[in-house]
Formats: sequence, structure tokens, C-alpha cells
Amino acid sequence: MSVLARQQAFAKAKRTLSVEVRIAFGFMLTIALMLALTGIGVDHMRRAEARLKNIVEKNNVKTEMAQIMLQALRERSLSMHSIALLTDPFLKDDESQRFSAWGAAYVRAREVLARLAVSAEEKQVLAKITRLTSETQPEVEKVMAMALEGQDPLIFDHIRNVAMPKQRLISEQVEILIQRQQSQTEAAVKEAEISSLHARNAMVLLGGLASALTVLIAVYVGKRVSKQAVTLEHQALHDELTDLPNRTLFLDRLEQAIKKAERAGSSFAIILMDLDRFKEVNDTLGHDVGDLLLKEVGRRLTSTVRDTDTVARLGGDEYVIIVDGLADEYVERVAEKILIALERPFVLDGEGVDISASLGIARFPEHGKDAVTLTRLADVAMYAAKRDHSGYAIYSHAQENTCRADLALKSELRRAIDTNELILHYQPKIDHTTGRVMGVEALVRWQHPKRGFLPPDHFISAAEQTGLIGPLTRWVLKQAVIQCAALHQAGIDISVAVNLSARNLHDKHLPAEIASLLASVKLDPSCLVLEITESAVMADPAFGLEILQQLDQMGVKLAIDDYGTGYSSLAYLSKLPVDEIKIDKSFVLAILSDPHAAVIVRSTIDLGHNLGLKVVAEGVETQEIWATLTHWGCDISQGYYMSKPLPADQLIQWLSGSAWGHVKGLKGVPVTAACGLRPAIGLP
Ligand code: C2E
Ligand code: CA
Ligand code: CA
Repeated sequence: MSVLARQQAFAKAKRTLSVEVRIAFGFMLTIALMLALTGIGVDHMRRAEARLKNIVEKNNVKTEMAQIMLQALRERSLSMHSIALLTDPFLKDDESQRFSAWGAAYVRAREVLARLAVSAEEKQVLAKITRLTSETQPEVEKVMAMALEGQDPLIFDHIRNVAMPKQRLISEQVEILIQRQQSQTEAAVKEAEISSLHARNAMVLLGGLASALTVLIAVYVGKRVSKQAVTLEHQALHDELTDLPNRTLFLDRLEQAIKKAERAGSSFAIILMDLDRFKEVNDTLGHDVGDLLLKEVGRRLTSTVRDTDTVARLGGDEYVIIVDGLADEYVERVAEKILIALERPFVLDGEGVDISASLGIARFPEHGKDAVTLTRLADVAMYAAKRDHSGYAIYSHAQENTCRADLALKSELRRAIDTNELILHYQPKIDHTTGRVMGVEALVRWQHPKRGFLPPDHFISAAEQTGLIGPLTRWVLKQAVIQCAALHQAGIDISVAVNLSARNLHDKHLPAEIASLLASVKLDPSCLVLEITESAVMADPAFGLEILQQLDQMGVKLAIDDYGTGYSSLAYLSKLPVDEIKIDKSFVLAILSDPHAAVIVRSTIDLGHNLGLKVVAEGVETQEIWATLTHWGCDISQGYYMSKPLPADQLIQWLSGSAWGHVKGLKGVPVTAACGLRPAIGLP
């Protein structure tokens, strides 16, 4: 994961956390509001109820007391009248006792009232009652005394005119008291009503707030959840790096396109695309630059096709495009447009990168009627395009045969190594200063029993993929070294160059094996040149370097092959234990027609010399190129102009016959693999 990706992930995690904290806080607030609401409401009600109960209970007692006082006054008035009328002394005595008892009840009630009285008004009325009572009491006592003594005619006058009016005054005050108490009770009830109304309003308000908050949170959470669901769905169906649809979504869209085309009776095509040499970019410039490239390729693809077409990334450097319901030529035009779009150099992280791609086209329904078949056939076409370096290819049945044959080739390769179906050809390398051969490059071929003569392009990558490159390289090394030793024995002191693959640089045993091979034929290690492409060195600089250093210490010469096609700088390469640099033939071939190529070749010669390297040009096809390179100071050249790669027997003839070779009396040089002789020495 890059630093940027880590930072983004961290920021995302932080964002998610703060959102979660906010939601949790919202919920806690709602719960707190609800609790406060319930608490306040319940407390309010409880207090209002208690107060009301207190007031009502007190007032009930007070009213009862006041009623007792009224009744006592009434009863005592009755007693006064009765006693005045009664003659029987016993009855009079009974009545007198009733009179006293009501008097006592009156006093008790008044005392209770005095204790319970709270308002000033009540206290005032009670004081008045007490005063009136003490004024009335002697008059009433007087009536009772008169009645008990005998039949006094004045007694009724006294009752009517003195005692009763006074009693009535008291009764009036007691009535006032009762009225006060009633209005007090009413006021208390009203107050309680108002208070409970307030409580209810507060509860409604708080409840509303809490509900609103809950709704808000629910809406927010809902929105987030649906947003998250959308994001998750997007993630599940899109490639993280390029944000293009991934394999799953591609297959889904492909199924849909098939259904649509079936219904409409129309056709469409899919284009499968694979970048050439992407691994090299990744290995040499790093994964971050590789990622940038993949993203930019995605962008260019999307902007090249129509909005209705699906561009998906299937993984690695593989993309696919569904080109919807169009005429056949149009699909080819789309493929060409894509290739042109990728031709523009990519500037990634300050580095200019050139990339090409291979495209395979399969059509519905012509080539396949289901998603799996269509994708497979587009893949076959893509491999054909890659093999033929044709940019794009439309599926054909013949490709499938070739594809199958390629597979068969892989399985046959081991046998080929073991049974000497492989042959080495040698291409002379000429020294510009002497104009004579100074070495040869060994190039492998395969004399296939059924398929005939196969150039290395047809099986080297298969050997690399199957792990057979180890045995193959050992075979080549052995043949080449033996042949070179044979030439030396015949007095021709030239070097032999052997090509190594990236994988060979991971083979820890190789340096020791080469050392013992050279020793076994008594060939000086400096006569062996090992050619390694710059991308092979860069694939794993640390590891490659270790093996290269071992080989260098042994005295074996090392050359950087195909220089100029990779992305590494000569300055970097010169830090490796390298003796020779071979400029790629694509530049050499073009020096007379392309000023850009001329500049590259010329500056590479100069820079190579400054760094103490021998500069070799390959692909010298004409005298003009040879002359130009001589003029520019190139050290060594190799190319069809001097000689094509030749089997060993023809090489020996060439050495004696050609002006470049000019070696006399070579008839006795033994030819090893080319004439089918098994070398006498075995590899360790
Ligand atoms: P290379 O190492 O760059 O070899 C040079 C290629 O350029 C050879 O192709 C050679 O025939 C060709 N060539 C030489 N002079 C000219 C010229 O003047 N014009 C043109 N157009 N081409 C020229 P070849 O033999 O087909 O080999 C192709 C590639 O296969 C080699 O490229 C090398 O990378 C690989 N290869 C060949 N033999 C071996 C081997 O034993 N081991 C490994 N690992 N790779 C090998
Ligand atoms: Ca080479
Ligand atoms: Ca080369």
C-alpha cells in the first residue's frame, strides 16, 4: 500500500469514527431528553398532587369544623328555647347537659380551626368569632340560669332580642369562614389544574423535541446507511485502482448485452486488451508508477469509447470493452483508436513511459453466444495479436489452433532440449577498427519434427513461463562454450556471446556451473560474453546484481542487450559490472531515416565510452549504416550486412571465406551441435 493510500485509509477511518461518535451522541441526547422529560413530568405531577391533597384535606377538616360550629350554635339555640319551655326538672337537666356538650364541641372545633388557619383573612374572621363568642357567652349563660331557676316571662325576650342576634352574628362569621374555605379549595384546584397544564405543555414541548431529534437521527442514519450501501455496492462492482467496473460487473453487463442483442437480433463485440511489457514498467519504475499507468490507461480507454460502451478492468494489466451493437468495421476502428490513444507517451511521476497493447476482438453472435465463450475467444484473439505484434486481431478459428499448438509446444520443449532438437546459430560480431570478426553471438533455434524450423521468439517465452529456461540456457551455454573452445583450438581466438533470461539471474548455481564448464574445456572466461536485457537486470536489481558480480569476478564479460528499449538510465547501468552495451536494432536500423534514432545511437556511443563501456550496434543491415557507425566511433557491429546468424558449419566456412572473417585453413575445426555431435563434456 502506498503512503497516499495509507493516508487516505486513515482519513476515511477517522471520518467514519467521527460520524459514529456524532450518531451515538445524538442518541444519547435523545435518551437524556426523554429521561428529563419523564422525570420533570412525574415530579411536577407528584408535587402538584401533594399540594392539592394537602390543601383539600386541610380545607375539608376546616369546613367540617366550621359546620360543627354552625351545628353547635343551632343546637344551643334549640336547647335555649327547649329549656325555657320545659317544666320537668330532669328534662331541664338533660337539656342543660346537651347545651354544655354542644358548647364543648363548639370550642373544640374552633380550636382546631385556629390551629389550621393559614391565611390572614381566616385568622381575622376567627378572631372576630372568638370576640363575638366571648360577648355572647354571658348572655347565653344568663338565659340558661333564668331557665333553670324557673319560668321567667322575660326569658323569651332575652333569647329573641339578645342571645339569638348575637348567636346569629357568630353564625354569619362562620358562614363567611366556610365560604372562604370553599373559594380556597376552588383556587387550589384551579392552581393544580394550571400547574398540570404547564407540566403537560412542558412535556409536550420536550417530547416534541425528543421526537424531532429521533426523527432527525433516523433520517441521518438512514441516509448514511443507504449511502454506505451504495458505496459498498460500488466497491463490490468496481476496481479499486481505476474505479472502472470489475470482472463481476463486466460479466453482468455482458449478460445484459447478450440478452438485449438476442431480443433485438443485433450484434456487438468485446475487445480484450492486455498491455505489452507492463511487468517491465512495474519492475523497473516501481509499483506506484505501474499503478499510475494503469489508471491513466483506464482514463484513455474511457475517453476513447462511447459513453454507452463498458470499459472494465479484469485485473493486472487486462482491460475489456463491450462495444455495443455496431457494424463490424466500427469495432476495428475502435480498436485502432485505442491503439492510437495509447501511443501518446505517458508521463508518470515525471517519467516518460511508452507502452503498447494487444487487443483481441470477439463478436456476438458470430463467434460466441455466451459470456464465457466470448471472453475466451477474445483472449485467444488477443494472444494472436500479441504473438504477431499486430496491435489487434479479430478472433478466427485458426488462432485457436495456433493457441493449442503453443500449448503443445510447451509440453514438447523439454523433450526438445533432451533430444537435441535445438540448434545454435552463430552471428558474427565485427570490430570497427580492424574490420574483422572478434566474436559471435549464439542464437538458439528449434528444429521441430512436425512444425519445422522455429525461431526463438516462438518458444523462449514458453520456456520462461514453464521454468524450462534453466535447462535451455544450460544447453545453449554448453554448446556455445564447446564450440568456442573448438575454434580456439583451431587458432581462432574469438569470443562467444550467450543470451540469459531474467529468470537465469535468480539461479544461484549458475555462476559455479559456468565456471566448471569453462574449466572443463579450458576456455578463458573472458571469451564468454553473457547478454542480459536491461529489463532482466532491473526486474530484481539486488538479486541480479549478486549473480552478475560473481560472474564478473570469474572474468566472464557482461553485456546489456536491447539497450534503449527499457526505462533505465545508462548511468545506472554503468554501476553494474558491465563491459559492453548493445544498442537495440530498432534504433540502429533507423539511424539514417530517423534523426531521433540517430541522436540516441550517437549519444549512447559517446556516453558508453565516457563510462568505459564497449558499444555494440546490432541490426546493421547496410554498408551505409556500417560506415556511419564507424564514423561515430562505434566499437563493434553485428547485422545482416556482415552476416546472418549461421549454423556452426556455415560459420566455419564464412570465417574462412568472408572478408570480415578472413581466417585461412579452418577445415579441421570440429562442429558440435550443428552436425549432430553430442559434446564430449557434460555440464556439471
Ligand atoms: P537478440 O539477443 O537481440 O538477438 C538478435 C536478434 O536480431 C536475432 O534474432 C538476430 O537474428 C536478429 N538480427 C541480427 N542482425 C540483424 C539485422 O541486421 N537485422 C534484423 N532485422 N535482425 C537482425 P533471433 O535469432 O530471432 O533472436 C531473437 C531473440 O531471441 C534474441 O534477440 C534473444 O533475445 C532471443 N534469444 C535467442 N537465442 C536465445 C537464447 O539462447 N537464450 C535466450 N534466453 N534468448 C535467446
Ligand atoms: Ca542478444
Ligand atoms: Ca538485442
